[in-house]
Amino acid sequence: MVQVNGEVVCPRCGTRMEYRVEIEFGENGAKRIRYYYRCPRCGYRENDLVLMIRRDGAGKIVIEKEEYIKVAVAKTSSK
Ligand SMILES: [Zn+2]
Repeated sequence: MVQVNGEVVCPRCGTRMEYRVEIEFGENGAKRIRYYYRCPRCGYRENDLVLMIRRDGAGKIVIEKEEYIKVAVAKTSSK
């Protein structure tokens, strides 16, 4: 993943990528929320984060982070 001036650009064609959210509904009210970048030009897609939200046996809401692909930020200095 490439960032230019704070914007994520497509590694294939250099187009600014859109940030999208997709929600899948599972059993017992469970939800899987996918955050991802998508290139509107070539359709290239890169997952950013996947959250799984479900209820445990006691009815408590549990949020699990399934996946996280860190965005590489081009910075010249770190502190
Ligand atoms: Zn592209």
